[in-house]
Formats: sequence, C-alpha cells, structure tokens
Amino acid sequence: MVSRVIPVDPFDLVIFGGTGDLARRKILPGLFRRFCSGQMPPQARIIGAARTDLDAAGYREMVSEAIAEFGGAFTCEDQTLEAFLNQVDYLAIDARGETGWEALQDKMKGTDRIEAYYFSVSPSLFGDLAERLQKWGMADAQARIVVEKPFGRDLETARSLNATLAKYFNEDQIYRIDPSLGKETVQNLMAVRFGNLLFEPLWNAQYVDHIQITVAETVGVGGRGEYYDTSGAMRDMVQNHLMQLLCLIAMEPPARFDPDAVRDEKLKVIRALDPLEAHHIVRGQYQAVPMDEVENPGYRSAVGDARSRTESFIALKTHLSNWRWAGTPFYLRTGKRMSARSSEITVVFKETPHSIFAEDAGRHPNVLSIRLQPNEGITLGVTIKEPGPGGMRLIDVPLDMTFAEALGDDGTDQVDAYERLIMDVIRGNQTLFMRGDEVEAAWAWTDPIIQGWTARADVPKPYDSGSDGPGDADEMLRRDGRAWREVKP
Ligand code: NAP
Repeated sequence: MVSRVIPVDPFDLVIFGGTGDLARRKILPGLFRRFCSGQMPPQARIIGAARTDLDAAGYREMVSEAIAEFGGAFTCEDQTLEAFLNQVDYLAIDARGETGWEALQDKMKGTDRIEAYYFSVSPSLFGDLAERLQKWGMADAQARIVVEKPFGRDLETARSLNATLAKYFNEDQIYRIDPSLGKETVQNLMAVRFGNLLFEPLWNAQYVDHIQITVAETVGVGGRGEYYDTSGAMRDMVQNHLMQLLCLIAMEPPARFDPDAVRDEKLKVIRALDPLEAHHIVRGQYQAVPMDEVENPGYRSAVGDARSRTESFIALKTHLSNWRWAGTPFYLRTGKRMSARSSEITVVFKETPHSIFAEDAGRHPNVLSIRLQPNEGITLGVTIKEPGPGGMRLIDVPLDMTFAEALGDDGTDQVDAYERLIMDVIRGNQTLFMRGDEVEAAWAWTDPIIQGWTARADVPKPYDSGSDGPGDADEMLRRDGRAWREVKP
C-alpha cells in the first residue's frame, strides 16, 4: 500500500551542526527521502551551518556522500539527487561568535516561508544559538527551533535550559525532539487505543495484570563512551524514551488529537508516578564474555574507566497512583549489549475469572504486544482449542499484524522517525514533541533516584554481554510471580 503524501508548505530549514554525525546519518538522508516522495516543495531550502569552512559545492558533496552511505535501501534517480542538492546551501557559522550570522540574516531576509532552525549541536550551544537568532532578527513569530536530546541532565539543568529558550521563543515555537516518538508504531499505539472500542474498556487495573516495556540494544557504548559514562541508561533512555512510551500506553484519552490535549494527558501520567523504591530498581553494567574481550570489550574498558559506576542496563517496577492504574505494576527495562535488538510494549491481561475447561491446567492471559522495532507490528495472543482429539486442551496463538506485510510490500514505504518529525515541525504540529513541563516532570521523577545512587556510591551489577541483564532483574519479577517477556529479534 503506497501512502498518500501531502506536500508541506515552502520552508527554510537551517541545520546548525549540519556537518555532524546526526545530520549526516539521519537528518539529511531523511530530507532527501521526503524530497523524493514529493513532500518537499521545490522552493524549500536546506541550509547547513557549522564552523567548518566549506562552500555550498563542498557541502553538497558531503550531503551526497551522506545520502549514499546512510540513505538505506531507498533509491532515487540521480537526476533527482541533483535537484535535491540544488536546494541545499551552506554557511560557515560559529554559534559562540559572530562569524556567519550576517550572511544567514541576509539569506533569511524577506522570505515569507516557514523558518525552522534545527539545533543539531551539543546542548551547551542551545542558549548561544537562541540568543544569536534573536540578536540577528531571526527569532520572529514564524520561526521554529528544534532541539535535540538530551534536554538537560537533571531537573535543574532542564529548567535552566527551558528558561533560556523561553527568553527568545514561545513554547509553541520550541520542538524538543525524541526520535522514538516519530515511529509509526508509537503513533499506532494511540490509534489502536483510541480508534478501537475493543481495547479501551479493558485498559485499566481491573483487566490488566501488568505492563512491560523493553528497549533492548545489542550495541555497546561504541564511540559514545565518554558521553555515555556521564549519563547512563536512566538519563539516556528511561527519563525520555521509556517514560514517553509509558505515558502513551497509560494516559487517559485526550479530548482531541491535538498537541496540547495529548501532552496534558501525558503530563498527568508522569505526575501520577509513585516515587521509585530502591528495591524496585536493578542497575547493571555489561561485561565482556571470555574469548570475546577484544571484539566486544566490557563497559568499563569501552569507557576507559575501570571503576565506572554508570549503568548500561536498568530494570524497574513502578506504579501510577490514579484510578485507572492503581495496583497495576509497570515494569520497564532497557540495556546495551543485550541478547537482541528489540523494543516492545506488552500489555498482559488478567486471566479469565474461572476456567470451564477441566482438562486444561495452564494459564492463558491474553497478551497484546506492540513491537516498535524491528518488524514493527502488533500481536494479540488469543487462546484457542488445541486442534485434534484429546479434549479441550487450550493453546495460545498470535493474531499477528506486521505492518510491513499488512501495509507495504517490503516496508520501504515506512517513514523514518526523523523524516516524519521534521515534516511535523514544518507543518507546525507539536503533538509528537515534548513540552517543557513534561521534560521537567520526568526529571523530577528520576532525579531522586540518581541522587540516591550517587549518595550510596551504588555499584551496578555486572551482566554478560549478550544476556538480558543481571539475574536480579529476573528475580524482581519472579518475586511478583511474573516473568519478563523473551527479548526476541
Ligand atoms: P557531532 O557529530 O559532534 O556534531 C556536532 C556539530 O556541531 C558539528 O556539525 C560541528 O561542526 C557543530 N559545531 C560544534 N561547535 C559549533 C559551534 N561553536 N558553532 C557552530 N557549529 C558547531 O554531534 P552529533 O552526534 O551530530 O549530535 C548533535 C546533537 O544531536 C547533540 O545534541 C546530540 O546529543 C544529539 N543526538 C545525536 C545523536 C546521534 O546519533 N548522533 C542521537 C541523539 C541525539 P563544526 O565542528 O564544523 O563546527
């Protein structure tokens, strides 16, 4: 099924950090794909900006290489690549100095297009960029800024960053990006919940036994070791990504599918989270397995600190103190170097109150699994009779909808999260971006936990690379008579 593409209005997108890793791997190839699909109008301009001294031709060459390297299986005619590159420009600009700003002002002057400024640079430069955009007259009412994660490293820094940006831009001009929210399946989560009568009546503590959210990676910290070691899984994944998924799965139906209605409901979820208890958290750190230390070093070797106490894995149990979810545990888990790359949300329903099938002693809760990656899709486990003679023995079978099979022949029709979110910025739709108060509420929940670890000099439990975290994470669920879902590729 080919999706319907609605072109966006003409825009100018300035990518600060246009020569960086994120721009080359995600933003530029994504824009090219939107161009090829007909969504990007011919008047649109993309202006890369960084300190590196390049002219437009040099930057176009870099963009073309980035598309070749990171554009994926997607192909487009050469002629089209040239047409796309003609819409790409570059300016050497220093976020902390005055170089290049006048030239940018000249380029942006007198256009009535949508103006978007993507801050794909270190967060330490966000304030400088905002300030200079205002100083050079570009922070006008039609300007939008896109800020990358991480948004702060605790409540205090997030507040301060929000306050800095608020000096120059209104909240409705600020797009705090979390790519996980741009995934097709994440949006489908809302469509499934609020577009079907089937699930919503059961979506509460009365019928749901528990909910699991797993985001497992097979990669280690790689080249990001230095940064990651100052962050850890709680800051890098739980505070934003997992918390956002939790919000979408647990929130009340918003009155309308509009940005503030959705974000109001998400905020209520974060504020309803109980404070975490220390014995409901397991921290882990991956270690190398014998014979594989060179190829896949353990966490401490990878970050170059033999005594690092930063966690690369976290599993936790939490509750929401509200009418809908009182008593239903939410189990969240994320880690690096786990057995498979997989992101999945699982809603485990309660069992039927009474079994009429005497021959069957098994447990058969319905399980709804929403796979975010890979093989995005939804599976509902239903219980049926085992075929053949032998009485009423029951088995669980999956009703499976893999989106690539159901919606597109090979999945290439699916839009990458960054592409979708950038087009949302151009359309002025903030639904899938985090609002300032949401980010602060999320930090307010995680801060005391992180402070507790620091105060206690807590040391994460080691786990083997390729496993699914320390045994204590399994034990935490076993104590509750439950088990984690298998991490499947
Ligand atoms: P990066 O590869 O280090 O790139 C940084 C970019 O900023 C470069 O283009 C650099 O170019 C430019 N820059 C540095 N100082 C500057 C200055 N004073 N004025 C103007 N430009 C300056 O970083 P990245 O990995 O692309 O990450 C960018 C942002 O995205 C960060 O906030 C990061 O946390 C976030 N992020 C990245 C990823 C990822 O996969 N890479 C994922 C999630 C979030 P010059 O040196 O030429 O100035």
